[in-house]
Amino acid sequence: MGKINILDKNISELIAAGEVIERPASIVKELVENAIDAGSTAITIEIKRGGISYIRITDNGCGFEKEDIPVAFKRHATSKITSTDDLDCIATLGFRGEALASIAAVSKMELTSKTISEQFGSSIYLEAGEEVSFEEAGCPDGTTMIVKDLFYNVPARLKFLKKDISEANVICGIVDKLALSNPHISFKLISDNKVKLHTPGNGDMLSAIHAVFGKDFSGALIPVDYEYNGVQVTGYTSKANASRPNRAMQHFFVNTRYVRSKVCTAAIEEGYKNAIMIGKFPFCVLDVKVPFNSVDVNVHPAKIEVRFTNERSVFDAIYFAIKSSLAKTDHLTNAIQSNKNLANAQLLSKFKNEESEQIKINVEKPKEPIVYQPKMQAQSTAQVFSTKAEYEVQVKKPTHKEVVVQKEDNHTVSNDLSQFQYINPESLKPKAVSKKESDIPIIKLEQPIEEEKEIQQSIIHEEQAAQEYDLPIRMIGELFKTYILFETGENFIMLDKHAAHERILYEKLKKSILTEQKQMLLKPIIVNLSSAEFNALIANEELLNSMGFVFEEFGANTVAVREVPLVLSHYDIQTILLDIAVKLSENKRDVSSGVYENLLHSIACRSAIKANDTNSIEELNELIRMVITNDEIRNCPHGRPIVTMSSKYEIEKQFGRI
Ligand code: ADP
Ligand code: MG
Repeated sequence: MGKINILDKNISELIAAGEVIERPASIVKELVENAIDAGSTAITIEIKRGGISYIRITDNGCGFEKEDIPVAFKRHATSKITSTDDLDCIATLGFRGEALASIAAVSKMELTSKTISEQFGSSIYLEAGEEVSFEEAGCPDGTTMIVKDLFYNVPARLKFLKKDISEANVICGIVDKLALSNPHISFKLISDNKVKLHTPGNGDMLSAIHAVFGKDFSGALIPVDYEYNGVQVTGYTSKANASRPNRAMQHFFVNTRYVRSKVCTAAIEEGYKNAIMIGKFPFCVLDVKVPFNSVDVNVHPAKIEVRFTNERSVFDAIYFAIKSSLAKTDHLTNAIQSNKNLANAQLLSKFKNEESEQIKINVEKPKEPIVYQPKMQAQSTAQVFSTKAEYEVQVKKPTHKEVVVQKEDNHTVSNDLSQFQYINPESLKPKAVSKKESDIPIIKLEQPIEEEKEIQQSIIHEEQAAQEYDLPIRMIGELFKTYILFETGENFIMLDKHAAHERILYEKLKKSILTEQKQMLLKPIIVNLSSAEFNALIANEELLNSMGFVFEEFGANTVAVREVPLVLSHYDIQTILLDIAVKLSENKRDVSSGVYENLLHSIACRSAIKANDTNSIEELNELIRMVITNDEIRNCPHGRPIVTMSSKYEIEKQFGRI
């Protein structure tokens, strides 16, 4: 090894520039981010030959003070942070003070700028980072940067650039993302004299999405707006019946900065689990707002990766945001909800008339749309209830007997599973729980003091909830011995009986049955894990115990499994537990592993009633009730839809009545 030298300034500048400026798109990204930080409302980007020969960025932002211009080209010159404390709380896109110096070092660069308070602007011209001229210039408020002949002084770098068209495509991708995350700014991108993108800048994210991706994409989206634990998630995500073959159209922004984030990707996919087909992916444009001091953006020179201090909250906020948006836009749930509202209003007005002498009750407001709330323990498997009644039915009163109503030879499963066959919805009716049995306090109507009035109203709500399953639903019949046809309110619905029953059984299996039946192993199974997986497993021991896994520490990063859920006893426990540990260490909400889940799928599929089965009217009616009383039951475990729905309006339109 030779003698150690301090590198010449020119060489060190070039090395540093290489970290930030890899290709024309890096320049566009840095300069447009500067324009955004400068408070612009309109930004024009013009490129020629994929940006290799020419890049121009014009903005109408705050501009440069004349004396700041030469300083801005020095390395680590920034107006955005002043101390190390500021690094913990970065609210701007830039902060490293490297971009202008790096770009100037590898190109011929011109900057013209004027602030609103100056009469004249200034223009500076640099070649390979050296100032060639600096003079007064007539120009509008704002800044124009022109970068020519990129890498003219480092020809080796030029060789690594792709064809012009590929470089232009990368630039388009970057401008698209900046435009999506800044809908209040109008972006115009011109490539070789052709306008490639022009966003309205009206502050509406959907308009920006429409301008960037077109109407097919924007038309398949539903809004997202949700806040949980200090994390706010807004934007748009794909409808449950729309999907893409890969993740390329999942766009995440954290505090309006485009990021690639495993936490965000995992959370959205968990939110869509069982709602879209296996092998298909949701698409979205989501902005995740977190307190500036709870995210580290100083992880990567291109600032595309971020680190969250509380990954769990970010994961949960996105997960619940997606669940909530999907539930709110589920047609069947909405149709049922509006029927319920109608029935509730009728019930309430009847009650009001009868009791008006004794108590005054405010006319009930329409029910809030369904919003998923994290009611479970942080690490428990996702079980979410949309109404209190549902919660009462499924959690608080688990003692209802389950009845096997369908048990033909060809679909029975082994004895120990037969009780999962069918759940009699009668047993789920809250109505069946008389007030005496219920734990709801009974308040005498004659004493309508303020506080009690509220409790009073909640009792009335309970009573209404009891009526909720008495929705006006009429079964029309069966089609092809596969689909149950029924009407409710102004809607005609077709229900796939196998898919519906399969999902009901799958949820049932997943949520409760496994907890009840365990199998003690003759010989413990030893599972070796990484330290992260091991820690995750130990931290969630209680949850895993409740699922039927009993294990103990067995040396470094190793566990000995002593008991397993009965239903899994003949399967490869090592693989299942390892899968679960990996999921837990990745903070997934639903920890059941792929192997375990496939298993549950196949048990549910085998046990469910099939197309072409002969079923009694009662069975079909019960299946309808199961579906309408649980808005989780909308897709089969593989993501196929369970119901299709047509409104009276749509049908009448087809017949030309409207
Ligand atoms: P950083 O953005 O990390 O601060 P840059 O090298 O990109 O570093 O920019 C240096 C400084 O130049 C910025 O801090 C800002 O004060 C100023 N600046 C850059 N671009 C613009 C612009 N378009 N309008 C106004 N000021 C700008
Ligand atoms: Mg910058």
